[in-house]
Amino acid sequence: MYDISQIVRKNILSLVPYSSARDEYSGQDAMLMDANENPFNDPLNRYPDPRQRELKQKLSLVKKVSPSRIFLGNGSDEAIDLLVRCFCDPGRDNIVSIKPTYGMYKVCADINNVEFREVLLKRDYQMDLFSMLDNVDRNTKLMFICSPNNPTSNNFAREDIVMLLKNFRGLMILDEAYADFSSEPSFLEELDAWPNLVILQTFSKAWGLAGIRLGMAFADEQVIAVMNRVKYPYNINWLTQQRALEQLEKQGEKDQWVKNIIAERNRLSGELERLSGVRRILPSDSNFLMVRFADPKKVFTGLQSKHIIVRDRSSVPLCEGFLRITVGSPEENDKLLDALKKMNLD
Ligand SMILES: *Cc1c(COP(=O)(O)O)cnc(C)c1O
Repeated sequence: MYDISQIVRKNILSLVPYSSARDEYSGQDAMLMDANENPFNDPLNRYPDPRQRELKQKLSLVKKVSPSRIFLGNGSDEAIDLLVRCFCDPGRDNIVSIKPTYGMYKVCADINNVEFREVLLKRDYQMDLFSMLDNVDRNTKLMFICSPNNPTSNNFAREDIVMLLKNFRGLMILDEAYADFSSEPSFLEELDAWPNLVILQTFSKAWGLAGIRLGMAFADEQVIAVMNRVKYPYNINWLTQQRALEQLEKQGEKDQWVKNIIAERNRLSGELERLSGVRRILPSDSNFLMVRFADPKKVFTGLQSKHIIVRDRSSVPLCEGFLRITVGSPEENDKLLDALKKMNLD
């Protein structure tokens, strides 16, 4: 069995977490005179459930994962930061990750003064397993990988992820922000098999709720328990919990959005491919396209002057010449194509 105490920071292991009077009361319908709230302005006058029980219950049915294995954060970004703070001793421990990938992993490591070791992907945008494992030492507590990867838009080979899970003794954090758009199934079904696996998902992409800030982490209950001890007590506000509950009742709507976005991704990719200044489009398992242009800076500023904002990734290693374009609505994609067709792309 996996011994969590071997990888948690000592001060976190011995931490006495903040506890409210309501944490210690499990009955129903009490009169609440414990938290100095305003008795008027129901329901927003009340502090939200710090354990988000109703939302986790619902999510547990949707994701088929027990509530004790779910952490909810103020965006996935909170989960990323918490994992670094719970498991990595500043100035001593390190994290192994890939390059290029989502920028928040390194930012959180840097904020916490934790060394961040980036291993360049191979030319085919797959992971260099041997170099990654080569970078692991006794102070490597976490590994961050992202599949489908941002910004390269591809999935990593399943057997490669499994190989890392088998060979790395710290926590392997697999960011699945784009899993809904992928042709590969999520690793969530295999959570039971891997006590060192932490899966991150989010309401910001497929669920269409970036504005409410809600991210999920799924992991062994010992890992979740550590994260819950360290998080702010009321990290998920009441409005967010209510809105997420409503959206979870409408899974069909999310599924339809995903279908439409994938169809638009394929259409957009096909049309872009025919433009003269487009050099290459990476195969995408996500809701964005990596497009290499002959002159990416000119395209970027040209689009900007037409009030179309895309992400310039042209100076990112392995992404030289690429712009990252989020798949929009059919109307937005048409406008983008129209703007590009009117530009001299070469
Ligand atoms: C968009 C994105 C997220 C989502 O972050 P939130 O804080 O949940 O909005 C997470 N990981 C990656 C790789 C992303 O691209």
